[in-house]
Amino acid sequence: MRLFSIFGDPVSHSRSPLMHNSVFNSLDIDACYTRTELKDGEKLREVFLQKGLSGANVTVPHKEAAFRACDEVRGIARTIQAVNTLVYQDGKLIGYNTDAEGFMRAIESFGPICTALIIGAGGTARALSIALRQGDITPTVLNRSANRLDYFKAEGINTYLWEDFRASSYDLIINTTSAGLTDTELPIPRSLLIELLSQAKGAVDVIYGKETPFLREVKLSALPYKDGSDMLLAQGVLANYLFLNGEYPTEQIEPPMKYSFLL
Ligand code: NDP
Repeated sequence: MRLFSIFGDPVSHSRSPLMHNSVFNSLDIDACYTRTELKDGEKLREVFLQKGLSGANVTVPHKEAAFRACDEVRGIARTIQAVNTLVYQDGKLIGYNTDAEGFMRAIESFGPICTALIIGAGGTARALSIALRQGDITPTVLNRSANRLDYFKAEGINTYLWEDFRASSYDLIINTTSAGLTDTELPIPRSLLIELLSQAKGAVDVIYGKETPFLREVKLSALPYKDGSDMLLAQGVLANYLFLNGEYPTEQIEPPMKYSFLL
């Protein structure tokens, strides 16, 4: 039996076991996906090998540690310097970032987008900014504090702090902060958000499974919007495709994984 797991801290809320096991069951694959709560990210490689895993997903706060744990990092994860999918292949730990591609798939339904404002400057903002730029969409990053902006500046991406930002026209407004996850906060001051939404074509919150204050404000604006569910599904489908070494097309993986969202 092939074994897979998600590593994170916390990890009890993760939907990944349900999503991947649903695919394994439906396609009659002898595999099982579990959760591993990991406090120390530096132990990731050791625990992965100890458990004899064939692959894993990595969530907050270990995506950068996962990048360092790999023998080889492929694709966009090399630029982002963060890994959310690990595959054990020929005695090597190979790292990928499917959050980035998952997000790009999720926003296809908005139609042509030229510019995007990313609120937040954490790991998710990194992944999205690089993916957007590769997709010919110009990203701008807006964060409440300065210390996380160096990565974006080094990548040549426009960055702002609240105090030096003036609202202008961006096609897509994206919340990548954790504001609203366990509190009732907006990621930026309300007046600024309303002004930005009045000039946008759509908005996305990467948080899923709840209506955040950001999403509530977006709904009032009557703009097309998405929460993080489509991104979650798309990153999971791509990860499962990598776990199974491309044996099954994504068209076959997606329906059972999507069905797991109803459970
Ligand atoms: P990080 O911890 O790396 O970054 C958090 C960011 O949020 C920082 O820029 C921080 O700003 C900002 N922030 C936190 N609280 C507030 C607040 N109250 N007001 C304004 N800004 C705030 O997080 P990640 O990038 O790893 O994850 C962010 C979110 O994305 C999580 O909620 C996670 O669940 C979600 N996610 C969803 C995915 C999906 O598939 N849908 C995939 C990956 C992540 P500062 O620098 O000032 O502290």
